Amino acid sequence: MSFESLGLAPALLRALAEQGYAEPTPIQAGAIPLVLEGHDLLAAAQTGTGKTAAFALPLLQKLSAGAPAGGRRPRALVLTPTRELAAQVDDNLRDYGRHLRVSRAVVFGGVGMNPQVQALRRGADVVIATPGRLIDHLQQRTADLSGIEVLVLDEADRMLDMGFLPALKRILAALPKQRQTLLFSATFAPPIKALALEFMRAPREVSV
Ligand code: AMP
Repeated sequence: MSFESLGLAPALLRALAEQGYAEPTPIQAGAIPLVLEGHDLLAAAQTGTGKTAAFALPLLQKLSAGAPAGGRRPRALVLTPTRELAAQVDDNLRDYGRHLRVSRAVVFGGVGMNPQVQALRRGADVVIATPGRLIDHLQQRTADLSGIEVLVLDEADRMLDMGFLPALKRILAALPKQRQTLLFSATFAPPIKALALEFMRAPREVSV
């Protein structure tokens, strides 16, 4: 199995070679083609399996494939349970996307709102956020989620464990119904299944 055979663009293949990645991990081999085909995805994968690249690579490919006319609104949203994970996802998107023009903004609590407001105002293709701080931006109307085409829920089980379900529901209500949703979780416990049933469309499942 090679990254080439998964349908990834040359600019991403080059970045992966520079990172020293020789071949896709099982979650990457399973998830990447499904995401590129536009399916919703329910993926069971622990940290350390390469799950971040499993969504980051196809996401970058979609975002680099040309924005719809007339927008500087974000086209993708990645939600994570913690600021540490948000920062890590941002680093990975930067590294994998180094030969593409995809802009990012990171939004998490515990730091000032203003730099985040400015980053959002400058325009970001993808926003990486923790739920609580994103709600603050929605309330202040400093984030506009009406152009989101792809939503990623990373470590969804941890977000539910941390009590983010009400925040997730508010955020989901601010997103277009017509979108692709990718949910990554260590387990498919009943609350995760319920979330998938309510907010996803015919998701394909991948577990490793
Ligand atoms: P994650 O499960 O996303 O936290 O990734 C775990 C670690 O594996 C990270 O340090 C990645 O840089 C690394 N990694 C992800 N995919 C690959 C790959 N295909 N080959 C080698 N290392 C990888």
